[in-house]
Amino acid sequence: MPRTHKTLPRLFVEMPLSSGIEIALDKVQTNHLINVLRRAPGDNCVVFNGTDGAFLAEIVQVAKKLVSLRLIAQTSEQTPANDLWFGFAPIKRLDYEIQKATEMGAGIIQPVITRYVQNARLNPEKLKTHAVEAAQQCEVLSVPDIAPEIEFDTLLAQWADTHGDRVLIFCDEAAALASPLDTISRLKGKRLGLLIGPEGGFSDDERERLLGLEFVVPISLGPRILRADTAAVAALALIQAAAGDW
Ligand code: SAM
Repeated sequence: MPRTHKTLPRLFVEMPLSSGIEIALDKVQTNHLINVLRRAPGDNCVVFNGTDGAFLAEIVQVAKKLVSLRLIAQTSEQTPANDLWFGFAPIKRLDYEIQKATEMGAGIIQPVITRYVQNARLNPEKLKTHAVEAAQQCEVLSVPDIAPEIEFDTLLAQWADTHGDRVLIFCDEAAALASPLDTISRLKGKRLGLLIGPEGGFSDDERERLLGLEFVVPISLGPRILRADTAAVAALALIQAAAGDW
């Protein structure tokens, strides 16, 4: 992919962007830019907000511990948001799974509460922070939406109304070995979702329910049981290679 200003730090902000304007950063963003990324007034950075593309900006001191950004010029047009839906049963450590899903091109990240979930206390702000950090690092211009958590049964009952004809690829550790690449290649051109279970896997009745639904396509990820976060990266790679944007 073409890369512009690749050595500059990239900052996600939640405000409209256009050339020539100055945007005030809050204390957390100022601290990140000045103390963590070790930039100073007069330095440049790249700023994006998920809708207006990316802009080259100059850091301007406005008070002792506060800076703003003067937007010099747009460096990239906004790219369309990814449509890939990623549903996962929250595991104990979520930072890795959210970061990797963002890097791998998930557009919607959906926590799904299944029977054996051990981490049902989610902090939506924290999840968003993981996605923003990954987007800043991997140079994508849109940050995935983090949907509010949903119960497994509700997700499936509402699937057709919420997702229309989207196909749900179900990573089934008990599936017979068969090439996931062949299966996913046959789905090319369709809107796709991916579902990964928790540390304890899906319960037998959850698995049976999934396998009985016509919009669900089970895949095996090989003969070894992968950690949930490893399974997520492996399956997202297969999807992007066989039917996505790789
Ligand atoms: N049920 C297993 C157990 O308790 O030993 C572990 C579940 S695994 C850690 C978490 C999730 O990763 C599974 O629910 C599944 O979605 C996915 N997964 C892991 N290995 C897989 C494989 N070989 N094939 C398909 N999915 C896999």
